[in-house]
Amino acid sequence: MAARRKSPKSDATKRAREPLSSLLRVPSGPVRMDQFDPRATPGYPGKGKQDAQRHVDALAPELSDLQERLYADGRSNPDSVAKVLVVLQGMDTSGKGGVIRHAIGLVDPQGVQLKAFKAPTAEELQHHYLWRIEQALPGRGMIGIFDRSHYEDVLVVRVDSLVPESVWSQRYDELNEFEAKLAANGTTIVKCMLNVSFDEQKRRLAERLADPTKYWKYNPGDLDSRSKWPAYMEAYEVLLERCNTEVAPWYVIPADRKWYRNWAVAELLREKLAGLDISWPAAEFDVSAEVGRLTAMP
Ligand code: AMP
Ligand code: MG
Repeated sequence: MAARRKSPKSDATKRAREPLSSLLRVPSGPVRMDQFDPRATPGYPGKGKQDAQRHVDALAPELSDLQERLYADGRSNPDSVAKVLVVLQGMDTSGKGGVIRHAIGLVDPQGVQLKAFKAPTAEELQHHYLWRIEQALPGRGMIGIFDRSHYEDVLVVRVDSLVPESVWSQRYDELNEFEAKLAANGTTIVKCMLNVSFDEQKRRLAERLADPTKYWKYNPGDLDSRSKWPAYMEAYEVLLERCNTEVAPWYVIPADRKWYRNWAVAELLREKLAGLDISWPAAEFDVSAEVGRLTAMP
């Protein structure tokens, strides 16, 4: 039988199957925020907003299976070291909370360790800036989610000059070393920059101000950060360039379309968990003997 020629359709299917991680990974070299389109939808398998919930829901069974394997491995395998750390960064309204609800919310909360980092407390300020980060790292078998992170120490800290430049400028190398150690100890690190545009942020802030059920999300300080947008973008460019290592890569997630943003983080997490290739722990008991005992019972 003659070999069938590849149809254009099968090429398109293949392209669509390129891992999302390679589509969203920040390329090495100089970074400019305007190289990323906040409205793009790379790798999205459906049509758009109308089928987004279906595509997110379709990830749920595999995500929860993979998360349960990770958790079971952490509980039952004495040699296990595997854990996952998802770092969420982004300007106000970029949707860190939305991602946690809609993407991370697909897995069993028992296996998730969530930590939101606010301005450091008086106690935290007495320690090295990584002290509070270390306290919050995920344990074996867990998925840690950082809503803001150690990267604030080269973002707000840099933009607002909370420490001298001679101090924050040393931190990029220090963060790389810190993350390299975590990776060497079994942590899969996934760093997501939720990229909302300046215009979309204004729309979302206006929405919060127009809706009493959203006042709680609004903080007058958000406008102070907004007024320093160019300085924040520059700070992001530097950290995306300098802290984008093989063991702790940065992904820029287009975030102007909430449905894409939520799907993309869920799919990225699915891909990373699948890559761990964790099998179910073997029984630590004699299965057939237990079946026999149970059968013999009334
Ligand atoms: P939100 O995440 O919107 O609740 O806001 C948390 C606030 O804490 C933001 O304004 C951050 O910039 C601030 N924050 C987080 N980490 C740090 C840090 N290391 N130093 C100073 N401010 C921080
Ligand atoms: Mg906020």
